[in-house]
Amino acid sequence: MNTSREDFAMNRRRFIGSSGLLAAGLWLFPEDLFAQAQSPVITIINAAKTAKIQVTKLRGNISMLEGSGGNVAVLNGPQGKLLVDAGIGVSKVNMAAALKSLGPQPIKYLINTHWHFDHTYGNEWLHRAGATIVSHETTLKHLHKTVRVEDWNYTFPPAPQAAWPTVVFKDEKVLHFNGEAIEMKLYPPAHTDCDISVYFPKADVLHVADTFWNGYYPFIDYSTGGSINGSIAAAERNVAHATAHTIVIPGHGPVGNRAQLVEFRDMLVAVRDKVAASKKQGKSVAEVVAEKPTASFDAKWGGFVIDGKTFTNLVYKGV
Ligand SMILES: [Zn+2]
Repeated sequence: MNTSREDFAMNRRRFIGSSGLLAAGLWLFPEDLFAQAQSPVITIINAAKTAKIQVTKLRGNISMLEGSGGNVAVLNGPQGKLLVDAGIGVSKVNMAAALKSLGPQPIKYLINTHWHFDHTYGNEWLHRAGATIVSHETTLKHLHKTVRVEDWNYTFPPAPQAAWPTVVFKDEKVLHFNGEAIEMKLYPPAHTDCDISVYFPKADVLHVADTFWNGYYPFIDYSTGGSINGSIAAAERNVAHATAHTIVIPGHGPVGNRAQLVEFRDMLVAVRDKVAASKKQGKSVAEVVAEKPTASFDAKWGGFVIDGKTFTNLVYKGV
């Protein structure tokens, strides 16, 4: 545990020392970040420090908050507020203001869609503000211990106890709150091994965690059970679940719909098939990257933390 705390302290120092990153425009060149052994985790936390939180009202007293790591859903009502994902703790002031703008109701529940920092680093302050934290049992397992994510070049220390979910479940769980029967359901391993969907049936709003990045290549976390084929299976489940009426909240990117879930699924399948065919011919990852299998997709999907080259690497690992 000492080592992890030291790592954390070191990473914090690097984070503080990297505050010129965004100004330098390096955000646009994620492959440089990897090459410099600079973790995108640091960049994302840094961006969240000053991020404005954009509030979008969806349907049935449900809103989406964007700007601090993963997208946050909020169900507000007479019983209080329920959040799906926590954002990053460094955004606390702006997040608290955004939550207050929805009404004076207290924060009662927080559901984590998976263990990743950009969905759970706000757990601690939200718990102290009144939230009971709910997640899949494996999310809690990861938050308990040190986790190394090689593809992010980052070692996450155990989360402080106040950030730990205290209500956990295995496969699915229904939570009755503010007139909704909120359905939480585990995906088979996809982006990680603890992704859950959170569905509000009355409002027909579906939060699909990081199994969907609307308009961006997704990160796939092989260090905790993710894979490209699992990601495709989750994308299929999302397409099957949603109708033309469903409002879809992606882990990252703007609020979406079923047609965009289909587009995302089709992109994943097309890139997977290309990369798999080349790998089957015995080509190395460098050779496959050089073939640019994502070339026709990069303009649409390559504009965020995962560019075509990084995505090709992630797909190659899993085929
Ligand atoms: Zn994630």
